[in-house]
Amino acid sequence: MGRDPAAIKLVAVAKQQPADRIEAALAAGQRAFAENRVQEAQARWSARRAAGLAFELRLIGPLQTNKVRDAVALFDVIETLDRPKLAAALAAALRDGARRPRLYVQVNVGEEPQKAGVAPTDALAFVDACRAEHRLAIEGLMCIPPAEEPPAPHFALLADLAGRAGLAKLSMGMSADFECAVRLGATSVRVGAALFGARAPA
Ligand SMILES: *Cc1c(COP(=O)(O)O)cnc(C)c1O
Repeated sequence: MGRDPAAIKLVAVAKQQPADRIEAALAAGQRAFAENRVQEAQARWSARRAAGLAFELRLIGPLQTNKVRDAVALFDVIETLDRPKLAAALAAALRDGARRPRLYVQVNVGEEPQKAGVAPTDALAFVDACRAEHRLAIEGLMCIPPAEEPPAPHFALLADLAGRAGLAKLSMGMSADFECAVRLGATSVRVGAALFGARAPA
């Protein structure tokens, strides 16, 4: 595919996975993980962080403004920035706190009403507003394409938006479509079931 493997990070999606599978991944050297809920992530990762274990933790699920401080305290990357109110809350938490998670804007590439993310047509203006109004450094874009559609056009759209916004990082691709995402420029893929096996029901 013409991609340097070192330029693509495998992020292991730990949500709803039993602890022994996470331990096995850590023992095998995996160091980048993602969770979709702040509380579940705290329960699982806070003690490891306090113990000094080196890992990178990413939030890939919706973030409520009342959980922003907890998220900033725990995560290294927050991938689901998608609205002005959240940008303002993050900016306030970053001003006050010692930790500075890197930030991705989530784009609702399929414009699905039930899905989080900023609409593709609003994405560039939102990134600009994050930078200019909230003084947030945005690292990249993230998307979850519609489950029933071929993902390639959606990944291509995200890559195009990132290029126009001057963003180098693209979080896209899951178990079913990470190869396609890598072909279209993903710099990180979020893989759960293909790595750990099926999740326990939520
Ligand atoms: C659950 C989840 C994943 C991982 O999905 P798999 O199909 O298990 O690889 C990736 N990204 C997000 C945002 C998720 O919620």
